[in-house]
Parts: sequence; C-alpha cells; structure tokens
Amino acid sequence: MSLLHIEDLHLSLRSFEGEAHVLAGVEIELQPGEIWGLAGETGCGKSVTGLSVSRLVNTPPARYLGGRILFEGRDLLTLDERAMRELRGSRIGMIFQDPSTNLNPSLRVGEQIADVALEAGRKAPEILDVDAKAGRGERRRAARALAAKMLERVGIRDAAQRARDYPHQFSGGMRQRVLIAMALVARPRLLIADEPTTALDVTLQAQILALLRELVAETGTAVLLITHNLGVVAQICSHVAVMYAGRVVESGRMDEVLRTPQHPYTRALLAALPHPGLERGRLSNLPGRVPDLVRPPPGCRFAPRCERAQADCDQGPPPRVACSPSHQAACRHLEGRS
Ligand code: SF4
Repeated sequence: MSLLHIEDLHLSLRSFEGEAHVLAGVEIELQPGEIWGLAGETGCGKSVTGLSVSRLVNTPPARYLGGRILFEGRDLLTLDERAMRELRGSRIGMIFQDPSTNLNPSLRVGEQIADVALEAGRKAPEILDVDAKAGRGERRRAARALAAKMLERVGIRDAAQRARDYPHQFSGGMRQRVLIAMALVARPRLLIADEPTTALDVTLQAQILALLRELVAETGTAVLLITHNLGVVAQICSHVAVMYAGRVVESGRMDEVLRTPQHPYTRALLAALPHPGLERGRLSNLPGRVPDLVRPPPGCRFAPRCERAQADCDQGPPPRVACSPSHQAACRHLEGRS
C-alpha cells in the first residue's frame, strides 16, 4: 500500500467568470521516505493539490468533482474535520512559504513547537520519551526539552535560550528553520512543503534544503515539495511530478525525468533554466500563458503552447504513456513514438 495515493482528483473553483476546473485528474503516488517535487508554473494547481491533501481547501467556493486522496489507505476526502485535525501536525506535517504568517507572533517559538509535540505525544508517548502514564507537568517539560532539541537540530545556536524568544526576534531564514522544526517534531509520515525556500537567498535555500533532506532521511518521512523551481527539485527530490493546468503531464524518478524529459512542457521548462556556459541572450522562454480554466482547451491543455501539437491533440485528455517502468508522460506524440 502506498503512503499517499492521489487518484484521479478533480476540483473546481467558483469565480466571477464561472466555474474553473482547477484540478483535472491529478494522479500522484508516494511511498514512505520518497521526496516528490510537484513542479510547474504559477497557477498550474500545485498548491491546491498540497492543500487538498491537508484538506485545507475551502469548500465552497471549491468543489471536489471526483477522485480520492488515499493516505495510509484512508480516503481523506471522506473524513470529517475532527479526524483531519487528528492527522494534521502528527501524521501530516506542513511547511508553508512565508514563515512570518505561519508562526503565532504572540507565543514564544519554543512553546509553539512544544504544543505540536504535546499533541503528537498524546497518541504516541514515545515521541516525548515519557511513560504513557506520565502526568501533564512531566509531559509539558518533556515537550519543551524536545522543542529545544529540535531547534538545535535545525541549526539554531543557544537553542534552549532562543526557544524563549518570539518569532519577530528571528531572521527570515531562522524562522523557516523554526517551521521545519515544528513540522518534524511530531515525526509525521508525510510532510507537505509549499515553496519552503522561495523567500530565501540562494545560499540559505541550499542550507535549508540540505537540512530538510537530512532530517527526513532520519525520520523516514515522505515529502511532497511544491515548487516552481526545477533547480530545487534537482537538489533534493527522489521523484518529480510536473503539473500543467491542473494535470500531471510527466512524472517519475527525478534523474530520469530531468535528464530525459519526454513531455514538451517539461522540455520547455528545462530549456528556460539558466545554466553555466549559457551564451548571453540565448535563454529560451515559453511563449503564451496557462489557459483559462473556466474554458480550457478541449483536449490536451498544453496544445495552444505546444510546438508538437497535431489535430488529434484536441480529442480528450492525452493518455499517460510509460516511458520506462519509473517514468510516465501524458502526451499523444512523444518523440520517437509518433
Ligand atoms: Fe503537445 Fe499534443 Fe502532446 Fe499535448 S498531446 S503535449 S498538444 S503533442
């Protein structure tokens, strides 16, 4: 059984212009310990997919039209809010892009991490390393000690002292480390990280990604890393799913997909990446825009921007084709096959 299987997920969102079919058959499957990059341009449905797994999409205005989100065999779309609250934080951790909006400004950071540890420790006392019958005070002390340990683990000096500080006393990079500590203190089985390094400079970004990779390897946590940056995918991910206009167009092992991309969209994204040795003025860009999802193209949603498009590309969503046992692409005219 997979840890997470997003199966043919469809979601629409009501807007002034009409109902936008924002997710149109998303398919992703994660095994324990894998780090999946969910990549694509802004507006392709990456964040809505991540929020759907945490069940943080507001319905309405959104509406699930079909599909399932199986986590440890249970369909998250059928769980009530109480059951979801039990999972969030303890089994499914989350890190979002802007650390300043995800930390409570009026609470010491150590207390915020300790609260998550305490909650997780209710069901799994081994997290706090205390006896199952331990009293409230003992558990709170253990949770505070664990919070300080996690802060130290994510590279914050004088962790015990800094645990008493408030979020505004930390820099942006340090706040992001605090969020990582908070997300991993409960040893979740799955971590959803939405653009966790986008607001940081490149050096800090590399440090945070290395830290994240190290920590998830220690805990065996699987990660769904949402990013628009294929460079980030190459640094940390074992697998990647490339999304376009609400569909996964290519997916598989990261090294295969990035070394031998098959889908015209993935190729175009990679061609638009700067790299050493690139001649000045030779960086290519992808013309056009993500389509209007209220009135999407009838077949392949990439057709209006695709150099390989042919008449039959309008005839329904392109089928997923296995390029290898660990690599798939959804296109009717993959190179060498048509
Ligand atoms: Fe391009 Fe057609 Fe493939 Fe879509 S199905 S990516 S339009 S060739």
